[in-house]
Amino acid sequence: MVTERKGLMDRLAEGPVTLAEGYLFELERRGHLQAGAFVPEVVAENPDAVRMLTREFLAAGSDIALALTYYAHREKMRLIGREDELEPMNRAAIRLARDVAHPFGALVAGDLSNTNIYDPDDADSVAAVRQIFREQVAWAVDEGVDLIVAETLSYAGEAVIALEEIKAAAPDMPAVVNLSFHRPRVTREDWTVAQSFRRLEEAGADVIGLNCQRGPQTMLPLLAEARDSYKGHLAALPVPYRTDDSHPTFQSLDDPGCSCAIPGDRPFPVALDALTCNRYEIAAFTAAAKDIGVTLFGLCCGAAPHHMRAMAEALGRMPPASRYSADMSKHFAFGSVASLKAVNTDYVQNL
Ligand SMILES: [Zn+2]
Repeated sequence: MVTERKGLMDRLAEGPVTLAEGYLFELERRGHLQAGAFVPEVVAENPDAVRMLTREFLAAGSDIALALTYYAHREKMRLIGREDELEPMNRAAIRLARDVAHPFGALVAGDLSNTNIYDPDDADSVAAVRQIFREQVAWAVDEGVDLIVAETLSYAGEAVIALEEIKAAAPDMPAVVNLSFHRPRVTREDWTVAQSFRRLEEAGADVIGLNCQRGPQTMLPLLAEARDSYKGHLAALPVPYRTDDSHPTFQSLDDPGCSCAIPGDRPFPVALDALTCNRYEIAAFTAAAKDIGVTLFGLCCGAAPHHMRAMAEALGRMPPASRYSADMSKHFAFGSVASLKAVNTDYVQNL
C-alpha cells in the first residue's frame, strides 16, 4: 500500500487531490470531545480515537492526513485552562497524523485556524494573532509536515497573516488557505471573493479555497465567483449539510421536521443530523465542483468516512474502503442475484 510520496504541488499538477476534514465534529459525535469550545483535547486523552478516524478518512480516499491542531492554539488552550500543554499537544497531533499517514503514502498537513481574537482595528490583537500563528507554524515545520492548511478564516486579513507566517518560516512549504464565508458573500472586512483571493495570491498562497460554514448548494456559487478571476489551484471543502439560499450556512439552518424542542432552537452544532447530506449528494457536489475547476476536494464539519469515499469515487478513485461500497444486488429483497428467494423478492412492495 506504500506509494511514492510526491509533494502536494506535484500531485495537484497531475490531477485532483483530496483532503478530509471534520475531525472535531466527528470526534464529538463519537463522545471524545466537547461541543462549544471544540478544543481537540482528545489528542492528549484518547489518541487512539484520533488515529482510528484518521485511518478511516485515509482508507476512504483522503490523500492528506490533517493533524488535529484545529483550535489547539494559545487563545483556545487558555480558555480551557490548558495553556501549558499547548506545544506538546500540537506536536503530538502531528506525530499521530504522520504515523497513520505513512503506510498510505499520504501527506501530512499542519493546521491553523481562526484565532477568534482578530480585530483589524486593534494593533495589539493583530500582533497577538501573528504570534499565535508563528508558534504553531514553527512546531509544524519542526515536526516535518508536508504542507500547512490555514482554514475557516472569515477575515481575509487574518488569513494573510497566517500565510505570511507560513512563508516566513518555510518559503517552500505549500500553503493552502481556505476562507469561510458566513451569510454575507463578502469577508468580515467586506472584501469580495475576488478581492480576497487576489490578495492571498499576491501574498504567495499555493492553493486558495473555501471551507466550512456553507454546504454544497451554497458554496458552489462562491466557487464559481472565485474561478472567474482566480486561475490558481482552487480548494472546496463544504460542510455536508443541506444549506439553501434562505439558510446558506450550517449555523443558520433550522429543522422544521424535528418533533421536539432543541436547546436554543438552533440545530447547530449538535442536532444537525437530519439535515446531513447523503453520499450521493456529496458525489454530485464533487462533479459540479470539478466542472467549475476545483482541484483540491474535501469536506469539513459533519463529514464522515462514507462521505469522503463518495467524493473519492466521484473523482474516479477506488480507495481501500471502496471494497465495501454498496452492492444492492445481494440484498435479500431488493437484490437481483438469481439465487435470491422469490418469497422475499416478491414481497418487496411491502417493505
Ligand atoms: Zn468546518
